[in-house]
Amino acid sequence: MLDPDADLGRRAWLPCPRCCNDGCSTCAAGTSCNLHWRYLLANEARLVFLQCPGCMHRWWHDTEFGVGDNQVNSNQLPDSPASPGQAA
Ligand SMILES: [Zn+2]
Ligand SMILES: [Zn+2]
Repeated sequence: MLDPDADLGRRAWLPCPRCCNDGCSTCAAGTSCNLHWRYLLANEARLVFLQCPGCMHRWWHDTEFGVGDNQVNSNQLPDSPASPGQAA
């Protein structure tokens, strides 16, 4: 059953974990294959919710990059400002 959020205008080219496109040279080349694509149903931070139009499987895919937050080296900031008791 196709998700009501499925929209041809929002597609993603990611392999389906159920019917992955092994052997397709277009997919292997990393180009936008016009046979093998997924509906992009939703996205939340670095996760995207996809549906495969081939087998109707739906799943969350981790894109492994954040929306802007990977560029900020927040963990390079000092833990705390220099405490008064510490020698400089
Ligand atoms: Zn599939
Ligand atoms: Zn393909």
